[in-house]
Amino acid sequence: MDVVVVGSVNADLVVRVGRRPAPGETVMGSDLDTFPGGKGANQAVAAARLGADVALLARTGTDQYGARLVEGLAAEGVGVEHVMETEGASGVALITVDAEGDNSIIVSPGANARLTPADVTAAGDLVSGAAVVSLMLEIPLDTVTAAARAARRAVLNASPPRELPGELLSLADPLVVNEHEAAFLLGAASADAVSEPAAMARALLALGPRSVVITLGADGAVVAEPPTAGPSGFVDAAAGVPEAAPGGVAAQGNGAPGRPEGAVVTVVPSPVVDVVDTTGAGDAFTGALAWRLALGDTLPEAAGFAAKVGAAAVRREGAQSSYPRGEEL
Ligand code: ADP
Repeated sequence: MDVVVVGSVNADLVVRVGRRPAPGETVMGSDLDTFPGGKGANQAVAAARLGADVALLARTGTDQYGARLVEGLAAEGVGVEHVMETEGASGVALITVDAEGDNSIIVSPGANARLTPADVTAAGDLVSGAAVVSLMLEIPLDTVTAAARAARRAVLNASPPRELPGELLSLADPLVVNEHEAAFLLGAASADAVSEPAAMARALLALGPRSVVITLGADGAVVAEPPTAGPSGFVDAAAGVPEAAPGGVAAQGNGAPGRPEGAVVTVVPSPVVDVVDTTGAGDAFTGALAWRLALGDTLPEAAGFAAKVGAAAVRREGAQSSYPRGEEL
């Protein structure tokens, strides 16, 4: 396998409302729409649509959603032999979207909470034999850590934001976060002190992951790697000026313990597009990144490709339904 995703599968239940209800209030909404979701499933579909050989290790419930979600994944070309059925509810996201396009989301983890480290062990070669294992935080942290430990290379999208055990952080190659998640991991004090993306990426690298990608919405992404892992850098990173193409940018940063001082920082632009719906853009980015790393791209090359996939995903409504196929790019 190019990519094995160990992660979440959810049914996204979406109702549109004029205004989201206040506590104790009832409002009328649109008909219910049900979409396939979950950050793990989204990553897997993003990679599969691009042509990756991808499998998912996950759990779904015995409710009305479980079987349908698995069928949908299989139809997208995701390997589902290791998606296990668990007695009870599937993961569900309850989403209300108001007239301004702002949403409120409640995630009920359901079967996702029952994906255990023992499931990772039982999957054996599936996880340890994959070129890249792609992870996110909608399943138990000890399961994420077990998968990262078994992986040849672990891509970790630290979303939704949670405190990360040091071991897990040290296995992330790269740690992928958006700006909010980056600020969460850095803590309020240092996030205030370092708000410039390249500086944030260097500060995150100093926390211990093997490499870092911060996604920046329309501004693309910034990559930070230890000096030995990156391209021979040049140019000035501190200015944070996007290069026309992924360009090597060297700057002195905070060296992580046990590593040479400094970090190689690369700014990766995103194509300019008309935005329709940004839902699931980060998952598309991560799935695409994992695939390109599996094919042997450098991290800046893979991030450059992933930014194009993320940009394509925001041009259409929905999460999985918005993901581009290889030929579209
Ligand atoms: P998240 O969805 O996790 O908040 P981002 O908003 O940073 O993540 O988006 C992930 C990627 O999707 C970005 O790195 C970029 O490539 C692409 N993207 C997101 N929003 C836009 C946008 N408005 N224009 C172009 N590309 C975008």
